[in-house]
Amino acid sequence: MSSKFSGIIQINDLDDFIGPGQECVKPVKLEKRPTKKTGVIELADESGSVEKQKPPVQKAKISLDDCLACSGCVTSAETVLINQQSADELIKVIENNKKFIQDDKFCHVKKIVVSISPQSRASLAARYNLDLNTCTKKLCGFFKNCFSAEFVFDTTFSREFSLIESEREFVERFRKNEQGSSDAKLPILTSSCPGWICYAEKTHGSFILPFISAVKSPQQIMGSLVKDYLCKNVFDITPDKIYHVTIMPCFDKKLESSRKDFFNEFHQSKDVDCVLSTIEIENLFQKENIDLGSMQDGILDLPFTLNKDQTSVKQELEKQELVYNHQGGGSGGYLEHVLVTSAKSLFDFDLKPEQIVYKQLRNSDFKEVNLEINGEVKLRFAIAYGFRNIQNIVQKIKKKNCPYHYIEIMACPSGCLNGGGQIRDEQTNSLSKDLLQKVEITYNSVKDQIPDENRFVKNLYDSVWLGNDEEKLKKNLYTSYHEIEKN
Ligand code: SF4
Ligand code: SF4
Repeated sequence: MSSKFSGIIQINDLDDFIGPGQECVKPVKLEKRPTKKTGVIELADESGSVEKQKPPVQKAKISLDDCLACSGCVTSAETVLINQQSADELIKVIENNKKFIQDDKFCHVKKIVVSISPQSRASLAARYNLDLNTCTKKLCGFFKNCFSAEFVFDTTFSREFSLIESEREFVERFRKNEQGSSDAKLPILTSSCPGWICYAEKTHGSFILPFISAVKSPQQIMGSLVKDYLCKNVFDITPDKIYHVTIMPCFDKKLESSRKDFFNEFHQSKDVDCVLSTIEIENLFQKENIDLGSMQDGILDLPFTLNKDQTSVKQELEKQELVYNHQGGGSGGYLEHVLVTSAKSLFDFDLKPEQIVYKQLRNSDFKEVNLEINGEVKLRFAIAYGFRNIQNIVQKIKKKNCPYHYIEIMACPSGCLNGGGQIRDEQTNSLSKDLLQKVEITYNSVKDQIPDENRFVKNLYDSVWLGNDEEKLKKNLYTSYHEIEKN
């Protein structure tokens, strides 16, 4: 089976934990067997000679939560991932729910919540020749009618928080750096790509981690919204009573959702229980003979308005575009948002997104843009996608000759619209240039919104969920990284 992981996780020429196809090397604690059973058995044949038989080898089981995402064992990791986060697992949850309802064991029923990424939606819309709004309604109808989803959300909404906090983090760090603080490392390297984070943690560890943005990715902020805000303020249930599924453009997101940092020990619950890639949704349609275009329409939910009275929700929804986008490329628009907003906060300069002009460097996945005021360069930002460009940036930082203040880093060449979990061309089984272009056009076909102007986002900053309280902000919107030591 060919791997759908990003190239950075697939690379196997690094001096890494193990080579491809080998067994998992993570040290796993095995229960010691009683000596009586595990001692060497001596068998004597008729002639009396003794044959020593080794005790049977105990097989260690590794779960996805244990996985280090080493680059070498994509095959093993992939099997683990596919078994533990798959459409079959979701179907199992639905079947169990039915049984619990039949047996009047309502307290065991898990509510299904689905969050769709804008990249996956664009890929599905392009594949089924639908416009984005129609595709969204059909997907909502599909998950609600066929998978009993109570709510379907759009991670463009959780991305608003990720963008706003990225700006806040950058401005704070830039100011501290200007004042000479050695803790305020620049450039800030974006963190929403788990392929890049896995590589950074295991390959460059303690050196590179202080440069990485601590802001959670849109997937994991949606995880906090669903398992924290929704559970407490809308359902009044514990997080383990929700099964949260996300639809994402890559398999690497399965690794992200399995990080210990996003696991609630007390309730034994993950913020995102199951990540399905776009391609797995397409496979599901094919298996079930579903034509997305002829599905019944469903409603896209807004988690932040659920506890309001229905009239005001309706009025708000009428004003709100069903789907919208953020300025910038298909990977979330981090560079554009942080550049425009920090130009204002740091230099009181009104930079229009359309004034951002990139200069291509070595290739189309490595480009830079400067903020120049009165002929003086104030900010230097860059985009570095794909393994080679990332390696190049890391080397520059190591040699202390990296000229940038902020770098948007993504493991996949061309970014998230080209993720390993996106739908391939039927004929060639690859994401051809034409198909990628169609996905890009579809992705950009809706209006851009400015995150700071979204009234629903503002409501949540004022709500009990965040309450403009530093501790709550840290818990729900920020994370941390950990060096992975090689054996
Ligand atoms: S990626 Fe996970 S399963 Fe594979 S070797 Fe590393 S720890 Fe083991
Ligand atoms: S670039 Fe985007 S699609 Fe590719 S691995 Fe990173 S997050 Fe996933």
